[in-house]
Amino acid sequence: MCQAAIYPGTFDPVTNGHIDIIKRAQEIFSEVIVAVAHNPHKKPLFSVKERAGFLKKATAGLKGVEVVDFDGLVVDFARKHKAKVLIRGLRMLSDFEYEFQMALTNRKFASDVETIFLMPHESYSYLSAKLLKEAVSLGADVSCFVPDFVQKALKEKLREKKWK
Ligand code: ADP
Repeated sequence: MCQAAIYPGTFDPVTNGHIDIIKRAQEIFSEVIVAVAHNPHKKPLFSVKERAGFLKKATAGLKGVEVVDFDGLVVDFARKHKAKVLIRGLRMLSDFEYEFQMALTNRKFASDVETIFLMPHESYSYLSAKLLKEAVSLGADVSCFVPDFVQKALKEKLREKKWK
């Protein structure tokens, strides 16, 4: 087993694709810290407390998985937790350019922290939280893509915010 790894993201909200990556990371690392970024510039639909709460519920029972929210540079968060690995999920080629840029920028900031990419099961390889929000706002049933409690929260929040 390897040491601790950080899986950072916005998780607005957590999807089965994120959960798939967490489970894969958990098979490799003794500790997986899911780091929920505040990311106010992304104007998340859910508060950081709500997003972290969904993740805690979704990962309850997964050994070695912890959920923590953070603000600031992810490499600083990693160092604070003595983790040398950042996990990111890679879906299609479309993720590659952004993820590549981010991984190399983070390496420039902290050469002792390595980014490792994991691919989800192919059934989640096209799944994005953004698309799910759009689909739910149009009345779609997304129960095959998110835990039931997330689908319920999405419906309530979108109704409340009249999100488009
Ligand atoms: P960010 O805002 O940091 O890009 P996201 O919450 O969108 O955060 O995603 C966190 C990480 O999970 C990213 O590496 C992203 O590529 C990955 N990811 C998102 N959706 C999926 C999915 N369906 N399958 C696998 N990885 C995913």
